[in-house]
Amino acid sequence: MRLLLFGARGKVGSVLAPKLAEAGHDVREIRRGDSFEPAGHDAAVDFTRPDAVRANVETCLGAGVPCVVGTTGLGDDALADLDALARERSVQCFVAPNFALGAVVMMRLAAEAAHSLQRAEIVEMHHETKVDAPSGTAKATAALLPGEVPIHSVRLPGLVAHQEVLFGAPGQLLTIRHDTISREAFVPGVLLALERLHELPAGVTVGLDRLLGR
Ligand code: NAP
Repeated sequence: MRLLLFGARGKVGSVLAPKLAEAGHDVREIRRGDSFEPAGHDAAVDFTRPDAVRANVETCLGAGVPCVVGTTGLGDDALADLDALARERSVQCFVAPNFALGAVVMMRLAAEAAHSLQRAEIVEMHHETKVDAPSGTAKATAALLPGEVPIHSVRLPGLVAHQEVLFGAPGQLLTIRHDTISREAFVPGVLLALERLHELPAGVTVGLDRLLGR
């Protein structure tokens, strides 16, 4: 595919760009401030910042170019606006708060555990330069669990992306934990999203779970 990659010099983008090329994609790297013309590209991938992603994606969808969005921090209103634009242009926009396949399994296991253990809290831990808190993954996990689930955010050097879902009951504690040790963890999920993008309905689709069978 001919791809636009927004954020190619970032922590995720710099790992993703060579892997996309290795997989046979023709990648045009877009840095902050670069002018770009979406027409003629098969898809765009965005791993930038919460304050940049919306404009990039709006420009691409407006030009009829489908998008794969990894940038977190897009609120419900922004997602609803992007959904309306994508439907109007009959184009797909896939958004995932976490492209690591293991994180999807963690969320599924947490939803399963909640059937038996009702009291849960989430601890999400990320590198100190992550802009948004709580993380998109923590919010997506909480949305799968009943009631209001408290989320605790830790930002420290040395961390990449880690999450624990703790279930407490009298006399016992169940911990479900996922660790992203390197950003290579996000590559297979992005490749899968690109492969399946054209099968999705027009509009916004959220979550890698939607692309995976049971
Ligand atoms: P990062 O290291 O800060 O990289 C972001 C990159 O985007 C920087 O190189 C930045 O350039 C560039 N950028 C900013 N505005 C831009 C624009 N308008 N057009 C093109 N590039 C622009 O951040 P990261 O750790 O790679 O993470 C990027 C995003 O992905 C964050 O929102 C993070 O939470 C999210 N993320 C998602 C997943 C997932 O699985 N969904 C996984 C990891 C991270 P400057 O430095 O010049 O500003």
